[in-house]
Amino acid sequence: MSTGCVIGVDLGGTKLLAGAVDPALNVHHRATRSSRGAGQAQVLDTVVDAVREVRDAIDGTGGAVDAVGIGIPCLIDQQRGIAVMAVNLPLADLPFRDMMAERIGLPVFVDNDANGAMLAEWRFGAAIGARDAALLTLGTGIGGGLVVGSRLQRGSQGAGAELGHMVVQADGPRCQGNCPNHGCLEAMCSGTALAREARRIASERPASRLGSALADGREISGALVTELAYDGDEAAIDALALIGRWLGVGIANLVNMLNPDVVVIGGGVIAAGELLLEPARAVVAERALSPSKEHVRIVPARFGAESGMLGAAALALDGIGAAA
Ligand SMILES: [Zn+2]
Repeated sequence: MSTGCVIGVDLGGTKLLAGAVDPALNVHHRATRSSRGAGQAQVLDTVVDAVREVRDAIDGTGGAVDAVGIGIPCLIDQQRGIAVMAVNLPLADLPFRDMMAERIGLPVFVDNDANGAMLAEWRFGAAIGARDAALLTLGTGIGGGLVVGSRLQRGSQGAGAELGHMVVQADGPRCQGNCPNHGCLEAMCSGTALAREARRIASERPASRLGSALADGREISGALVTELAYDGDEAAIDALALIGRWLGVGIANLVNMLNPDVVVIGGGVIAAGELLLEPARAVVAERALSPSKEHVRIVPARFGAESGMLGAAALALDGIGAAA
């Protein structure tokens, strides 16, 4: 087992976060870059540049970097390390892993960002010790990760565990981006869905604080809804409860399919905490089958804004055999 660090890189559509991470998942140095609006060559240069900054900082303290993990919101062909298709980044049919390994001069591991987040929660976070676990990250969309039989599951092409695209309302609203489906979990309880439902509730209840925020022309974001709900505004609490109940329908499906030990909820929307999880647990108790529903724990993720970077680091630690 190595005693050095790895570098985790969270490559998102708007920003990049890189960090040197030790085998206990402590972060020793961070670097951030903007990736908004960059072309493909520029994105690759940005990754190399951020990795170099972190590596130089670790070299300066006499430490060593053994590998690099990169998490991307992208379909990854695991066998060949190819970034197949990304919604928010200019990466398509690119031999990303080998190109990065050659330029960086270290072993590079590449995976979907939600798979990385699942791995980090399973190895180090809210799903430690689980044999079977699922993760949902509620942000602009909904990412998914699965551990079945103590193994991270990616499906036969690496495109599996898209848990956000399970259908919970067949004639529901159209899903987002490249998804042709209707009524996906992502269409019902992502941060985007929360903002949509909160705007609707705000217009129906103008006397509420949520209603006056809309009347004042404020942007009805998930963060604002959460803030107003914590302040006791019933309309904001109801918006989160609605989203939480749809989340519960999705979790009930996962509970019946997988009989998991734990379902971990991450992403920006989980800032609402129990205001979201309590309605979700109530629906699972109503709808899922016994004994699975009594067994499962439904918990918030341990890792917040850095989960993508830590997940990428966990991928690299796993890849070099330093995490086991
Ligand atoms: Zn969908």
